[in-house]
Amino acid sequence: MITIGIDIGSTASKAVLLNGTKELYEIMPTGWSPKETGKAIVSRLLEKGHLRRDQVSKIVATGYGRDLISIAHKAVTEITCHGRGAAFLVEDADMVIDIGGQDSKVIKIHRSGRVIDFIMNDKCAAGTGRFLEVTAISLGLDVSELEQYHDRKNMVSINSMCTVFAETEVISLLAGGIGKEKIVAGLHSSVAGRVANMAKKLGVGSKIVFTGGVSLNGAVREMLKLHLEADVLTPALSQYAGAMGAALIARDMAN
Ligand code: ADP
Repeated sequence: MITIGIDIGSTASKAVLLNGTKELYEIMPTGWSPKETGKAIVSRLLEKGHLRRDQVSKIVATGYGRDLISIAHKAVTEITCHGRGAAFLVEDADMVIDIGGQDSKVIKIHRSGRVIDFIMNDKCAAGTGRFLEVTAISLGLDVSELEQYHDRKNMVSINSMCTVFAETEVISLLAGGIGKEKIVAGLHSSVAGRVANMAKKLGVGSKIVFTGGVSLNGAVREMLKLHLEADVLTPALSQYAGAMGAALIARDMAN
């Protein structure tokens, strides 16, 4: 049986195809048309697997653009899919911290992946990938380079909560001769601190899984560990947790 999960995020779209024990993955920018991106990402997956569309039993869509995906049989919330996907990626996980392009969420889950409770921030760019993207530009860096510029021991604290003001703060720190590495560590700590506070509101879990695009930055994971005083795991495929959850839910539906 073949199923597909599509996660149409605000920044990046991810898709997972499950074919028995075989798994295929695809990622692309969401762009301006989630509907077209949904079609394109499914085509790419089918091409990769040398499969036809009529061989796919069910498709489930999730993410902010989920309701626009006409090729999907069902749309399921990101919280449900992330819970299910994270539990699949890390056995016995009881908390998911997802930091994406424009939102962050903390989800308490049962070991089956069922959601117990959650907190989401989709109102403010602080505590999201967007905050790091905008401030990285002020430092002349790409967001994927930030990890290698992280100097935690000499970190300067970034006091601005707002992304726009943080950008100004970064520029004035640079003008004051402060090294990039010290600033980058402060930015990582700012994001991690905000999200850790969300986790503390729910009650910090004992097996925490870090997912979403920002989880590719190991320095943010280190700062999360410090703020939470707990271990934080980043599985391979952490950016695909939502799409994986959607593909697993599609498999349940097909069964
Ligand atoms: P969404 O589902 O909200 O669109 P994702 O969870 O896919 O977002 O995360 C996308 C974000 O992840 C990007 O906006 C960027 O901030 C961050 N990101 C992507 N790739 C990397 C990388 N290699 N290193 C660090 N951060 C990354």
